[in-house]
Amino acid sequence: MSFFSGFYKKTREERIAMTADSRQLSTQSKNILLADHNLPESIAGKMAENHLGTFSLPFSLVPQLIVDHVEYSIPMVTEEPSVVAACSLGAKIIARAGGFTSQMSSRLMIGQVALYDIPNMVEAQAAILAQQDRLLEQANQAHPSIVKRGGGARQLTVEQKADFLIAYLHVDVQEAMGANILNNMLEAIKDDLADLTQGKALIAILSNYATESLVTAKCRIPINQLHAEAQIALETAQNMARASQLAQVDPYRATTHNKGIFNGIDAVVVATGNDWRAIEAGAHAYASRDGQYRGLSTWEITDHHLVGQLTIPLPIATVGGSIGLNPKVQATFDILGQPDARTLAPIIAAVGLCQNFAALRALVTTGIQQGHMKLHAKSLAILAGAFEEEVDLVARRLRQAPHTNLETAQSILAEIRKEASKL
Ligand code: NDP
Repeated sequence: MSFFSGFYKKTREERIAMTADSRQLSTQSKNILLADHNLPESIAGKMAENHLGTFSLPFSLVPQLIVDHVEYSIPMVTEEPSVVAACSLGAKIIARAGGFTSQMSSRLMIGQVALYDIPNMVEAQAAILAQQDRLLEQANQAHPSIVKRGGGARQLTVEQKADFLIAYLHVDVQEAMGANILNNMLEAIKDDLADLTQGKALIAILSNYATESLVTAKCRIPINQLHAEAQIALETAQNMARASQLAQVDPYRATTHNKGIFNGIDAVVVATGNDWRAIEAGAHAYASRDGQYRGLSTWEITDHHLVGQLTIPLPIATVGGSIGLNPKVQATFDILGQPDARTLAPIIAAVGLCQNFAALRALVTTGIQQGHMKLHAKSLAILAGAFEEEVDLVARRLRQAPHTNLETAQSILAEIRKEASKL
C-alpha cells in the first residue's frame, strides 16, 4: 500500500506531517505550512502598489506524481473544486503505467528590438548580422552577472515583418525567467541597432512567446489499465483520442481543452511564485502557431496503448520575481525537492497533461459534472451559512435535490435546523 493512501481523508495537520516525513521537509517549511504563514505585510506592501492586505487561496497537494522515474508531491494553488482530486486520480492511474517522461531541449528566452523607418531592409539586415559578435558582447556587458553564472546572450537573429525589421536576442537566463536580464540587454543594444540600420527603434522588450523553452511531457498507458472491463477500456481510449482530435479542429473545444490543462499548470505556476500571465500568454500563442488555435495536447492509440503528449513553452524560474519573498513558495520548493528550472518545467508540463487526462477521461465516461457537483454542493452549503458540522449533511441532501443552487441549499439548511430543534 502506498505511503500516501487515504491522504484525502486525513486532517490538515496529518497531511502536513505525512508530507514532511515523506519529502523530508525542513522544520521551517513544516512550520510555514502548520502556521499557514502568508505574505507578511512588510513584504506585500513592497510587491504591489496601493496595497490594502493580502488575498488567500487554498494551498493543496497532489501527493504522488511520477516524472522521469522520480516521484514528486505537487503543491497546487487553486480555488476550483475537483482540480486537485482529478489530478491526483490521473497521477495514480498513470503511475501504474510508469508515470510521465519529459524532454526539454533548450532553455533560452527571446527578446526583441523592433526597428522602423528603415531605408533599405536588406542592407539593414546584413549590417546587423555582420556585427552580431560585437552586439552580443555589448548585450552581455549590460548584465555581466548572468555571464558569470554560465548564461548570457547567445544569438541575434533578424526578420522583416511588414514595415518592421525585428532583431531577436536569444539569451540563456539560467534559473531566472529573465525579464530584467533581457530588458537590460535589449536597452543596451537598441540605439546601436537603430544606427546600424539607419532607422529608428520603437520598442526593446522581452517576448513571452518562449519558443526556445519548449517542454514535452508524455505518457503511455496500456489501454487495459483504463477500466476493468476490456470493452469499456477500449471505448474510453477511443473516445479520449476522438476528443483530442476535436480539440485540434474546433477552437471552441480547443479553448476549453487548454483551460483544463491550465487548471493544473497555473495551480503549480502560482504555487512556485512564477508569473502565470507570462506562461499563459506564451502557451496560447503557441496553441495558435499555425494560424488556428488548437489543443496543446494530443491523445492517440498506438500499439494497445493510449499515448498522450503535451508540448508547451514553459520558461519557469526558480529565482527572481516574488519567488524568494513568499514563505509558501519556499515551502513549495521544499516539497518539490528544490528542483532547478530544467527539472521544474517538465514537472509542470506533466501536471498539465495529467489534468488533461483526468478531464478527458471523465468527459467521455461519467461526464465532468459528477465530480464537480460533490464539491460545488459543499461550497453552496458554506455560502448558505452552514456551520462546519452541518456542511456534509446539507451537501448530501443538496446533491439529491432536483436543483443544486444556493436557494435550495438555504432551504435544506433551514429544514435541517428545524429538525434538530425538534430533537
Ligand atoms: P529578477 O530580476 O527578479 O531575478 C533575476 C535575477 O536573479 C537575475 O538577474 C540574477 O541577478 C539573479 N539570480 C540569482 N541567481 C540566479 C541564477 N542561478 N540564474 C539566473 N539569475 C539568478 O527577475 P526576472 O528578470 O527573471 O524577471 C521576472 C520578473 O519580471 C517577474 O516578477 C515578472 O512578473 C516580471 N516582469 C515580466 C515581464 C514579462 O513577462 N513580459 C515584463 C516585466 C517584468 P544577478 O545575477 O544580478 O544577481
